[in-house]
Amino acid sequence: MPTQQEQWFDERHGYAGSSIGFRVTQRLHAERTPFQSIEVWDTTDWGKLMVIDGCTMVTTRDNFFYHEMMAHPALFTHPRARRVVVIGGGDCGTLREVLKHDEVESAIQVEIDERVTRLAEQYFPELCESNNDPRAQLLFIDGIQWMAECEPETLDIVIVDSTDPIGPAEGLFNEAFYKSCLKALRNGGILVQQSESPLAHLPLLKNIRKAMKGAGFQAQRTLTFPQPCYPTGWWSATLARKGVDLEDFRERGAEMKQFPTCYYNAQIHKAALAMPEFLREALQA
Ligand code: SAM
Repeated sequence: MPTQQEQWFDERHGYAGSSIGFRVTQRLHAERTPFQSIEVWDTTDWGKLMVIDGCTMVTTRDNFFYHEMMAHPALFTHPRARRVVVIGGGDCGTLREVLKHDEVESAIQVEIDERVTRLAEQYFPELCESNNDPRAQLLFIDGIQWMAECEPETLDIVIVDSTDPIGPAEGLFNEAFYKSCLKALRNGGILVQQSESPLAHLPLLKNIRKAMKGAGFQAQRTLTFPQPCYPTGWWSATLARKGVDLEDFRERGAEMKQFPTCYYNAQIHKAALAMPEFLREALQA
């Protein structure tokens, strides 16, 4: 039981009847931007914690699961991704992972709220270490608008690293947005969407896949992975591909990768593609 002088940050997931908590020492920052509220806490055991609209976004200790799994499965599936776009991703962790791939010539991050990135630079500098890479471009506009105006067939990978489908991110989870992604992608291009918790958000995950199919993405694969600081601690990313299937990935390339990771490797990639039985049945329906 918490002792009297201990302070805890708790995030309640009413819809799931669960919550997650972090023992904290102090709140380092709090502000309301034109888009959302942002807090940064110092914790006793998880490093820094960023919270947006009351939801845990990133901790120093466990962000690697998510950032690596949002980037590397798609990049080791595509034969040679040269132009990559991250929609959202304001903490810059996904951008850092994308830029570990030498074949990437351009990585554009389209984040609606510049304050998220400025606070990440201050409290999560390790996630921002690639922001000055000459291949990186940071834009601070609405990703929905940017994708709608993107020149057709100019992108190889689109990674949607957004908050939950409420508020500014709501329009990143529907058929109209996925249609704009399909138009912007070259043939063989891959869309990656953070697709929430298979345990707590299964109806949403099914809707994401239905909307992707409705937009014209025939091939889809949902990968699962641990993400301790998110609801249920078990998360997913759904990959969808334009005009080509998603059966294989560059296993040899993943085995021979020339950069460090904490979680991702070829075996983890293969394991993440394995579908738990309840999920296989639910997503086949
Ligand atoms: N890893 C987190 C998760 O899975 O919840 C997401 C990380 S990142 C902090 C999410 C970012 O999406 C936020 O910085 C938010 O400002 C951004 N975002 C939300 N809606 C957006 C939109 N329409 N265009 C661009 N960025 C958006």
